[in-house]
Amino acid sequence: MDTIRAAKFPFLREAKEFVDSQHIEMADLITSENLLPARKRGIQRVLEALDKGMVEYRPLMNDYDRLMEVMSYPYARMLVSQVDDRYLTKRYALGEAVRMNQNLNDEKRNMTTLLTVSGELGVEALGNDTGIVRMKFTDFLMLAGRLKSKEWKLINNDVRSGMVHLPAEKFNRLVQNAFQDKIESELPLMIPDEFVPHVKRDVEMVRTALVSAKAAMSPTGGKDMDVKFLPPCIKHLVQMSNQGLNLPHSGRFALVSFFNTMGLDYDGIIRIFSESPDFDESKSEYQIKHITGDLTGRDGYTPPECKTMKTNGLCFNPDRICESETMNHPLTYYRRKMWMDEQDRKKSEGGKPPEGQTGGQ
Ligand code: SF4
Repeated sequence: MDTIRAAKFPFLREAKEFVDSQHIEMADLITSENLLPARKRGIQRVLEALDKGMVEYRPLMNDYDRLMEVMSYPYARMLVSQVDDRYLTKRYALGEAVRMNQNLNDEKRNMTTLLTVSGELGVEALGNDTGIVRMKFTDFLMLAGRLKSKEWKLINNDVRSGMVHLPAEKFNRLVQNAFQDKIESELPLMIPDEFVPHVKRDVEMVRTALVSAKAAMSPTGGKDMDVKFLPPCIKHLVQMSNQGLNLPHSGRFALVSFFNTMGLDYDGIIRIFSESPDFDESKSEYQIKHITGDLTGRDGYTPPECKTMKTNGLCFNPDRICESETMNHPLTYYRRKMWMDEQDRKKSEGGKPPEGQTGGQ
């Protein structure tokens, strides 16, 4: 048994064998003092993924360190499952998958590890000493489809007899996607009721970090949306809807995706459309829930940028802020106007803008 590999890839069968060999049960992970380092590292895994988009590497000196590392993985999954938030799950899955990719790259084309990891993640492949991996083109299409740069187009790759030939590092990037998908599909896990009180404090710690992370990510800085900061295009679309004018599909899409990103839920969005004199909820519901991701269980669509709005004839009444060279998105408009308002408020109160700040984002 390779305990270093088990620690670096704690989802492998080898990792489970390592734990079994130490006669550790899941209940021990929750309650045992000896496994406190594993629980601490489990919290760290989640917080690093949330904060940095990647679980950080840490040196593993001996079998005890490696065992703690292996056990921290199920604990992290347990915490994420208890919080059960789509954003956290996706962020955590990404953080683990990026870590795994780096660990694979650090293996310097060690084909045994590479093919063991990919095989257990359901990606069949063959490799040789030259560091080239062959995989089925159907797997390639499934895993590379979401990677937008040209190098991931099938036509730009070496395809022979239904197999894509790739350098190991490129193959590892696809294995990252497979691992991310696997985690997302497995979580949330069912946690036995008797475990819940034991993990409560750690779950709360993750919840608090999640609230801060979401606030930092939010276009409104975690505050409620304020209509006075809305860009002119969005204001105009809302007015059109209120007046019962027929919004083009691209306009409805822009409105729903914009307000969804601003943090409005289904009820908040439907309220905007319900102002329209010929409003029919049954017609709007499917469309809204599709765009927000409520129907598909996926993330909602990203609202269109200014360039797309202009192409679709939706850039109405652009103002002075819109004319700025760096204005490229209605969400940027909102943030900038909110920032300007904050500066005006500080000036009128006699305060100075925070040091180093010369413009809003
Ligand atoms: S420039 Fe951008 S933010 Fe301004 S009105 Fe046009 S689409 Fe909206």
